Amino acid sequence: MSTVTDYFGSLVFDDRVMKATLSAKVYGSLKKTIEQGTELDISVANAVAAAMKDWAVAKGATHYTHWFQPLTGITAEKHDSFITPSPDGGVIMEFSGKELIKGEPDASSFPSGGLRATFEARGYTAWDPTSYAFIKGKTLCIPTAFCAYGAQALDKKTPLLRSMEALNKQALRILRLFGNESVKRVTSSVGPEQEYFLITKEMYDQRPDLRFTGRTLFGAKPPKGQEMDDHYFGVIKPRVAAYMEELNEELWKLGILAKTEHNEVAPAQHELAPIYTTTNIATDHNQLTMEIMQKVAGKHGLVCLLHEKPFAGVNGSGKHNNWSIATDTGQNLLSPGATPYENAQFLLFLCAVIKAVDDYQDLLRISVATAGNDHRLGANEAPPAVVSMFLGDELNAVLEAIKTDTPYKDIVKTQMKLGVDVLPKFNRDTTDRNRTSPFAFTGNKFEFRMLGSSNSIACANIMLNSAVAESLKIYADRLEGVEDFETALHEMIRKTIKDHKRIIFNGNGYDESWIQEATEKRGLINYRTTADCMPHLLDQKNVDMLTSHGVFTEAELESRCEIMLENYCKTIVIEANTMIDMAKTQIAPAIEAYCADVAKAATTKKELDRALACSYETELVRKLSALTDRIAIQVEELEQAIISLNRAENIIEESAMIRDKVLGLMGKLRIPCDEAETLTAKRYWPMPTYADILFSVK
Ligand code: ADP
Ligand code: MG
Repeated sequence: MSTVTDYFGSLVFDDRVMKATLSAKVYGSLKKTIEQGTELDISVANAVAAAMKDWAVAKGATHYTHWFQPLTGITAEKHDSFITPSPDGGVIMEFSGKELIKGEPDASSFPSGGLRATFEARGYTAWDPTSYAFIKGKTLCIPTAFCAYGAQALDKKTPLLRSMEALNKQALRILRLFGNESVKRVTSSVGPEQEYFLITKEMYDQRPDLRFTGRTLFGAKPPKGQEMDDHYFGVIKPRVAAYMEELNEELWKLGILAKTEHNEVAPAQHELAPIYTTTNIATDHNQLTMEIMQKVAGKHGLVCLLHEKPFAGVNGSGKHNNWSIATDTGQNLLSPGATPYENAQFLLFLCAVIKAVDDYQDLLRISVATAGNDHRLGANEAPPAVVSMFLGDELNAVLEAIKTDTPYKDIVKTQMKLGVDVLPKFNRDTTDRNRTSPFAFTGNKFEFRMLGSSNSIACANIMLNSAVAESLKIYADRLEGVEDFETALHEMIRKTIKDHKRIIFNGNGYDESWIQEATEKRGLINYRTTADCMPHLLDQKNVDMLTSHGVFTEAELESRCEIMLENYCKTIVIEANTMIDMAKTQIAPAIEAYCADVAKAATTKKELDRALACSYETELVRKLSALTDRIAIQVEELEQAIISLNRAENIIEESAMIRDKVLGLMGKLRIPCDEAETLTAKRYWPMPTYADILFSVK
């Protein structure tokens, strides 16, 4: 049995392999492309392609694919084999630089939101050399960006790379102002904590709602849920442990730094966290992780549910996006430094994030908006749909002191001026945690907690990188060329704190009174649903910011808004249709069968003894009949509501109709069904219950 160090990254064409298989000259040019984004010469590309192919073939690969992330949230791949016929009737394995650099998948089946007119139904994929190629099964996967002819991005990687570039550019300007000339590159990093549910395949197969929609659409509350907290603290069950072990191995082979795993709050819920890495790679790795999680589950007779809310009334699953920015010289720009000098720079970056989160609350909300995550945000285990920030007591005190020009701790008033040599030294404060904050400072990084478990982390980080780049740009524009840098810096930090204080909230984010305060007193945005927030992607201020940094074109934003709303509508319509189908063909017939048998029992008993009252049976049949009547009515209403969606003039209108009408009717259909479940003998009920599913993995 080989050790982890032997097989870690064994399926990745990483730096070690490149060094070993490429000539020094080719390796040097490729490195330059990776690190500085210089264009790759075709002769170099040919050499890299040949080395990649030989390496992959030696590991059993027969095919290659350009692996990319279309706007639907999953990853896409089209496999081509390496084989080329040779004149003697055999084949040789070939792969050219041209094939490595550019691919042309049939793009017509991927959503483009109107970006790609039908006459040019093609798109192309372009190699992203900053993310290593890897082998999955028998296929060499080449991470790529996906664009339409005309260069509009049709994927999530392209704008992510652009946003990283924007952040790099503006952060470098700031660093230069602080006299830092040696840093060449600033990069954002992410460590996403991934939550998921594990249930048995046997249970899953019996639930059409899970199979078609990823979540249960019916199900009465189980007698035991998460009340006891025994799952979180409990030992990991052997079957789950075996799953996690194999999952780790698979991820490690792919060079993914899976680090921690533990049970979560809800029964059957778990979490996996990797060690953080560059945003771009973290995004690719998280997509791969979600895929491998599901694949490995299959091998263990299990199903991994990545839906944000698979079970009503039970904690949902999120994804915590731990985000920081660092220099190529290894300095974390969100880490309070050891010296006052570093602290002044730290405070400026901190302020840039505060300003960004306040100015672009809406974009952060939009970046996590899906039909699935709407169930979670605002429910009482997840952060609310209102964005706010938590900084911790010590930082708050520092900011307050700067804002009001008052002493902080033992520092006298005059020293509070943010001159580089007089700023107080403060230590990072990691003890003080607030788990209810959507956006929390945790010592040297921010943890954005609104992401849903199935979300790609690309969108959140695109918005975060871009919004922070915008703050930094405003700062740099102001500070470059001022005579008295220290005074200007101090003033700017003070102004930021004053202007954006409203976004900082250190109390309980789950409290109903907070939502009221946030929206009424502080004027923070509360877009409760995807239908509410998504159209604001196109608000002028958002379009201006994102286009000015070259992250999106206006056409790209329009197409994204359209696609996200289409996704929202389709998801919910599929759920509604699944509900109708289950209610009509499974639930109502089951109740009828049970009623008939109960009624027959009463008749039989009366035949035996006319004096028997049979009030139990009579009452039960009465109750169940009333419920089936209600089910029939609700099914009818829901069907009508779905038909009426045809009348919507556009996708914004359709999404509003779904939010205002369809969702409510789905809730109304669920109630009598769930009630009937609690009254119907278990052997009649046509599907496993919540208790069966949640406690299915022994
Ligand atoms: P928890 O939030 O559960 O207390 P940690 O703080 O240890 O756990 O880390 C959670 C995640 O944050 C991990 O994926 C970790 O790699 C990541 N992380 C730690 N430091 C940074 C950083 N500077 N930048 C980005 N992510 C980080
Ligand atoms: Mg965390």
